[in-house]
Amino acid sequence: MSLAKIKHIVLVLSGKGGVGKSSITTQLALSLSLAGHSVGVLDVDLTGPSIPRMFGIESEKVTQAPGGWLPITVHPSSPPSDSHPSGVGSLRVMSLGFLLPNRGDAVVWRGPKKTAMVRQFLSDVFWDDLDYLLIDTPPGTSDEHISLAETLLRQARPEQVSGAVVVTTPQAVATADVRKELNFCVKTGIKVLGVVENMAGYVCPNCSECTNIFSSGGGEVMAGEFGVKFLGRVPIDPQFLVLIETGKRPRYPKGTKVNGEEFQGVETER
Ligand code: ADP
Repeated sequence: MSLAKIKHIVLVLSGKGGVGKSSITTQLALSLSLAGHSVGVLDVDLTGPSIPRMFGIESEKVTQAPGGWLPITVHPSSPPSDSHPSGVGSLRVMSLGFLLPNRGDAVVWRGPKKTAMVRQFLSDVFWDDLDYLLIDTPPGTSDEHISLAETLLRQARPEQVSGAVVVTTPQAVATADVRKELNFCVKTGIKVLGVVENMAGYVCPNCSECTNIFSSGGGEVMAGEFGVKFLGRVPIDPQFLVLIETGKRPRYPKGTKVNGEEFQGVETER
């Protein structure tokens, strides 16, 4: 079974599209792998699979092996070094995007076909040993989510399903969508690991000051209401877009402050 050798399965959810769910998945994957863990990313956002673009691997093709589809390797594991004392863990990605004839297309499928694809993605990808499998889901609570939850409950051992990270923006907190997402977790028995507020404030590229353009803090209040953990806020950062679009390493001037604290951005290079 393809999930058998995975230690922790984490879903990344959001009530709406465009709040940065795939971006947070990408950053989580990079951070975990740079901390020495072996990581897999499964992109089941059939509405617009953007994970291959974020890792700069859009033109890759997946191949079928006897054990299932082989995910694309972003980087293999590497031994401890001065910069990464725990070593760097392998990072592998599987996305529906690799199977679409035109990259960047969204699929126009009926519900049953989508749910069948989600089931197949969970059972037919050969991950081998993984510390973490991060699953980037479509926005909202759709047929794919129900199918995902059902398949996970059937195919994974309960201790493997660590839970869900819910991504929101300060504006989206005010809408019912994100609350629906939290209720979905309650109903399906998936633990909420916590809420991330993305696009909270804007980091000025000139002075590195972070300004709260929209109200900030809503994610934290909502997390408190639901009795779940608030994991933190990520500002709008034009350098992040540069990294995604060009693959160039973002440079943060030393001492960049976000919400009064020194910014610990992940530095990476393709
Ligand atoms: P979702 O998966 O929720 O649809 P994405 O992760 O695809 O959202 O993000 C939507 C757009 O916003 C992308 O172009 C992404 O690069 C950009 N984006 C997301 N988070 C940030 C951020 N913190 N700073 C700057 N740009 C961001």
